[in-house]
Amino acid sequence: MENDTTLRTWLDALNLDHPLVIAGPCSAETEEQVLNIAHQLQDTDVSYYRAGIWKPRTRPGMFEGVGALGLKWLQKVKAETGLKTATEVANRAHVELALEHDIDLLWIGARSTVSPFIVQEIADALQGTDKIVLVKNPVNPDLSLWLGAIERLAAADIKKLGAIHRGFSTYEKTKYRNNPEWQLAIELQTKFPDLPLINDPSHITGKRNMIFDVSQTALDLNFDGLMIETHSDPDNAWSDASQQVTPSSLVQIMKDLKIRKETDTEANYNAKLNNLRAQIDMIDNQVIELLGKRMKVADGIGMLKKQKNVAVLQSKRWNEILGKMVLEGEEKGLSEEFILKLFKAIHQESINHQERIING
Ligand code: PEP
Ligand code: MN
Repeated sequence: MENDTTLRTWLDALNLDHPLVIAGPCSAETEEQVLNIAHQLQDTDVSYYRAGIWKPRTRPGMFEGVGALGLKWLQKVKAETGLKTATEVANRAHVELALEHDIDLLWIGARSTVSPFIVQEIADALQGTDKIVLVKNPVNPDLSLWLGAIERLAAADIKKLGAIHRGFSTYEKTKYRNNPEWQLAIELQTKFPDLPLINDPSHITGKRNMIFDVSQTALDLNFDGLMIETHSDPDNAWSDASQQVTPSSLVQIMKDLKIRKETDTEANYNAKLNNLRAQIDMIDNQVIELLGKRMKVADGIGMLKKQKNVAVLQSKRWNEILGKMVLEGEEKGLSEEFILKLFKAIHQESINHQERIING
């Protein structure tokens, strides 16, 4: 299904002059809440109204969703506002109930994408339907798991497919709730350039004040749409309270986002761009050249340590290097996060080189 332009047909058919917006509460709580939010999202850029009916909570004992009852509320939303409806499904029974209640778009949650059994069960239950199915990335940063889920659905003849980037779990705490591994989403885009790609800044950030920036980054990276959790009273939401925005904030976010064109044909722009790209290519070559040199020096250190039977890892020296590089990076406008990632990777490669020499 690589380079399959029909993958975009469902999105193109919406004929939007802005990114696709899927919005609504994390969870359906009450009929009144569901309808109230929906009415506030009517006549905005929102095309699909989302609400979680079955909630995958990390720990037991928290609100786990209202269940099938909520599907009736979503039907009411469609009848009263004309908004199309969307919910998460995690097994065959969910799919059957969602189909019975004429839900327009189903998504597979991050905790389900990790399980090929669950994804296959959902694909089998959906076989032969014409629903839109969006696959969230798995919780762990594993591109093949994400691809595999999409391929299982494609194999079940589901034509209206898309992917949602909602970020990835990390052991180390970062400023994000789920780290946006943008490179991974870009790799998915490279592999399936026609697969609509949606960003979920709500679950990436976990904080409503970061949603705008992540949404803008997503649009800058050619994402086709956004899924943003929206609640009329975010602070008192029954789940994910800190990341939901009000309907009026959502409208403001959509207004402030800069929507970039994919490209431009103007000659002057292209000439300048090509010039800058040539510079980047040259610098990238120099970076590789330098890294190669650095590893040759590491090999030399490995040989010395081997002669004296000294351990490869010298933590004190390494911490000094890291601290120095963070400061120097700062002066050059490079973030601490980037420098740490870069030098940890360089360090690991050095260790591998030295290990090979010492044990080889
Ligand atoms: C959700 O969208 O409400 C949800 C539970 O998301 P995720 O699967 O990304 O955690
Ligand atoms: Mn949520």
